[in-house]
Amino acid sequence: MQVVERNLNVDDCHMKYVGAHVSISGGVENAPLNAHRIGAKGFALFTKNQRQWVAAPYSRENIELFQQRCQELGYSADQILPHDSYLINLGNPEREALEKSRSAFLDEMLRCEQLGLNRLNFHPGSSLKKVSDEECLATIAESINWALDKTRHVCAVLENTAGQGSNLGYTFEQLAYIIDRVEDKERVGVCIDTCHAFAAGYDLKTENGFRETFEHFDEVIGWKYLKGMHLNDTKKGQGSRVDRHEVLGKGELGVDPFRWIMQDPHFDAIPLVLETPDEENWAAEIQLLYRLQES
Ligand SMILES: [Zn+2]
Ligand SMILES: [Zn+2]
Repeated sequence: MQVVERNLNVDDCHMKYVGAHVSISGGVENAPLNAHRIGAKGFALFTKNQRQWVAAPYSRENIELFQQRCQELGYSADQILPHDSYLINLGNPEREALEKSRSAFLDEMLRCEQLGLNRLNFHPGSSLKKVSDEECLATIAESINWALDKTRHVCAVLENTAGQGSNLGYTFEQLAYIIDRVEDKERVGVCIDTCHAFAAGYDLKTENGFRETFEHFDEVIGWKYLKGMHLNDTKKGQGSRVDRHEVLGKGELGVDPFRWIMQDPHFDAIPLVLETPDEENWAAEIQLLYRLQES
């Protein structure tokens, strides 16, 4: 469990952990190598193949190599933001489907614990237009309570969505509604995706809009719940409710919002993860972000 126990030193506390969502192809232990190769100081990964419900458990070798490489390459648990499978819907209104999602989610939380990681990022859930939003949000909170009860360390990190279809969690109020109903407040958090926030209608593009959006975030949710960011530009306009990521600076947001993030200490010491479309460009985008910190 070295990954979890490494203490932050003073430098780390003012550090931005910029990276990308890297591949686990060939084994979860390859993620830290893939992150290091692009100059990342943080990274995201799927805990298993994200298109399948069930995967083989980790071997002892998977776990040991993952932890050894994280330690050698300087990645502590606070620099890593695992992402769950897109198949999971913790707000599913159908009982059987909900139970399938809950056990898959629990399996992912246990995988995080095996790796010594301390957070799991997921999209809150979808009402499938069969129940009210409130009912669905309450079911999501129940699902989180159920999973936290069966695990020990991992924090459930709700990601804001673009609000496509019947996906919930696209307003700060909806995320707060879930958090309010989670019993263990120490083990729930949020990840804000810049593309999703803009698509959901939040202005991040103008300096005033950006400031007001995060003031509103602080009032409704609170900075202490922020456990990660997804840094994505977007192909679609503000309020489009459409989730289409774009390379930083090539989309509707442009470069400025990422400069404001890089220069704001509220975003220190949490994973800042690119999910932009061109993997070949990630190393350059990471460099761009660190340059924005200075200029
Ligand atoms: Zn995201
Ligand atoms: Zn997205």
